[in-house]
Amino acid sequence: MSTSEQTGPRVALVTGAGRGIGRGIALALGERGWRVLVNYRADADSAASCVREIGEAGGEARAIQADVAASEGRATLLREAIGAWGGVDLLVNNAGMAPRQRVDILEMTEASYDEVMGVNLRGPLFLTQGIARHMLAAERAGTIINIGSMSAVVASTSRGEYCISKTGMGMMTKLYADRLAEHGIHVYELRPGIIETDMTAVVLERYRRLVSQGFTPIRRLGLPQDVALACVAIVEGHFPFSTGEVINIDGGQHLQRL
Ligand code: NAP
Repeated sequence: MSTSEQTGPRVALVTGAGRGIGRGIALALGERGWRVLVNYRADADSAASCVREIGEAGGEARAIQADVAASEGRATLLREAIGAWGGVDLLVNNAGMAPRQRVDILEMTEASYDEVMGVNLRGPLFLTQGIARHMLAAERAGTIINIGSMSAVVASTSRGEYCISKTGMGMMTKLYADRLAEHGIHVYELRPGIIETDMTAVVLERYRRLVSQGFTPIRRLGLPQDVALACVAIVEGHFPFSTGEVINIDGGQHLQRL
């Protein structure tokens, strides 16, 4: 069955949707009539307020607590997400973390590497596997959107584990795009630059200064809405002949300039 033949509003699972970019995506989808599953790990208040805000905008949403890095967490998430409204049409792999401490790669610990890779790569890799199996079993066309980062291609020696996790996500996007296209499931990667959220709060003043001096061709910081609008463009069907595509949402930061 194709998505257009399914009855009722489409269902989106957005990981890490209580705050930041994920919240922006959840609100944008909710406002446009999607049923939204708002996953979070620890901040129940933010997730509840996201659900409330979607409700106030006339949409439907539910919060699901689960740690995407843990296999039991993903099992819970899959069960509750699919059970909520009978299926999932869109997975947005947004949940992510920076290293708890920025340290030189010569000082990086195995514990920090494992933690960041677990949340940013192993979690979305196996969650996507679970959702893809569900979509195939239900003969349900669908969309998967991975929130990568310009750190996939820009080296930051003070957070190497983060860069490596996002480079891995780039290959994960290609692998699932290739594997799932014949089943009508398209996979995209959004690659944000510097976006104003809790994650960047500690370095925001420095980035704000750099950006005002021309560090990025578009001289402003990004907002969660910038990423959310790209998601909307994808799910509204404006890229029907593309899969495995990377869309930079970075004010032009990826451009090589002289
Ligand atoms: P954020 O403000 O720190 O929010 C992170 C969100 O992820 C929170 O909702 C958090 O849940 C959730 N989360 C973290 N670990 C989780 C886990 N193990 N299981 C489930 N949820 C988890 O971050 P953000 O800036 O919005 O970043 C969102 C995504 O964009 C990340 O993948 C990040 O790498 C990527 N990104 C961000 C930027 C940027 O400049 N901000 C740039 C490029 C890419 P709780 O609320 O429960 O803690």
